Amino acid sequence: MIPFNKPYLTGNEADYIQRSLLAGHVAGDGNFSKDCHRWLEKNTGVTKALLTHSCTGALDIAALLSGVKQGDEVILPSFTFVSTANAFVLCGATPVFVDIRPDTQNIDETLIEDAITERTKAIVPVHYAGVGCEMDAIMDIAKRHDLLVIEDAAQGLMSTYKGRPLGAIGDMGAFSFHETKNIIAGEGGALLLRDKTFVERAEIIREKGTNRQQFFRGQVDKYTWSDVGSSYLPSDMNAAFLMAQLDQAEKITEARLNIWNRYYDALKVLEDKGLARLPKIPQECTHNGHMFYLLLPDLESRTDFIAFLKENDIHAYFHYVPLHSSPKGLKSSRAHGDLKNTIETAERLVRLPLFGDLSEEDQNFVVSKILSYFGV
Ligand SMILES: *Cc1c(COP(=O)(O)O)cnc(C)c1O
Repeated sequence: MIPFNKPYLTGNEADYIQRSLLAGHVAGDGNFSKDCHRWLEKNTGVTKALLTHSCTGALDIAALLSGVKQGDEVILPSFTFVSTANAFVLCGATPVFVDIRPDTQNIDETLIEDAITERTKAIVPVHYAGVGCEMDAIMDIAKRHDLLVIEDAAQGLMSTYKGRPLGAIGDMGAFSFHETKNIIAGEGGALLLRDKTFVERAEIIREKGTNRQQFFRGQVDKYTWSDVGSSYLPSDMNAAFLMAQLDQAEKITEARLNIWNRYYDALKVLEDKGLARLPKIPQECTHNGHMFYLLLPDLESRTDFIAFLKENDIHAYFHYVPLHSSPKGLKSSRAHGDLKNTIETAERLVRLPLFGDLSEEDQNFVVSKILSYFGV
């Protein structure tokens, strides 16, 4: 059986966790957490990186920092994971969904401006498959309308747009280290703050609404309730797991890109013959090999294709149920325009098995089955 995903381990995770245990500080913000913060800051160029227990948690903090409230609106794609929208709905804001581009499945930057109202407070681009959104256009719109940009870069660590790391371009960014992502900690995430504007308040919200960080640094003489907040820290054992992965981030990315490129080269014939479409990487982007997908002609052909792979013990999956048409989305959001590409992509897209140690032999098997399905 060839699974869709298998968590990739470097082999150093248990050793790093053991070191965290021996250091005697296993709660949040121990030595490994500090190492992860430094790594993320150095490699993305942001002023502040803060580990969280998930990307969902990082987005929750970002939404609180943005100050959105009841009646405010936030612009984002409907073709994304629930957390992108839920963070803002938790604050009482209304997600306004804009369609995606048919080439990258990222938010269509040319449709954003028309969706802006006087209640709009933020734009939340999602870098689908670790491929960057058109960030120059998005940042320009945000600047002209005085909006915040919060990047859902859950899939985007180690990818760039015009040489800039994803997650570090907007005011805030969020990474995920869930086991389905490239660099993992089991569960985990990080909030990136580009400049110092939000740093102090982010530290407080992340520490249950207390000024514990300032207290530790000797900046205040009391540790007390200062703001709203919750507990968003991962334990230092989780950070140790993550550090073992970050230390090999380039190797992990290279392994995934090799697999991605092999899929692309072997399956290009499907696109040439008009049988299926392959992912598009815009020239200004470098990517991290997070995901390889095919776009089949329609829902029926995709259903048949996935069933065929399953019969051959190959697990391939689709997603997302567009948020605007989901039960909660129907109640709590607004769609701007017909979202035609969103609806079509959700019906046509299928993701192929891709993980760090997918062997060349197994990948060749997947490719040969796919080619035989299409009769090429
Ligand atoms: C995985 C993912 C999330 C959630 O990440 P967690 O770390 O599991 O909370 C959010 N947004 C996108 C686009 C994702 O792919």
